[in-house]
Amino acid sequence: MWVRHCSRCGRIDVRNRYETFEQAEAESVVETPWTCPTCDSTEFTLTEQPEDIAHLPE
Ligand SMILES: [Zn+2]
Repeated sequence: MWVRHCSRCGRIDVRNRYETFEQAEAESVVETPWTCPTCDSTEFTLTEQPEDIAHLPE
């Protein structure tokens, strides 16, 4: 799964997940405004999330 990864604090935002990088691109993830829930930064990168992390509670 692909998720947003905060460029400032490193938080992985699992609220939105995408099956593939292509799906994330198709949904214009990079162009969609986002704010980090931890540090309020708006800078993020897309990163591939290991499957085992996906099932951890927030
Ligand atoms: Zn952050």
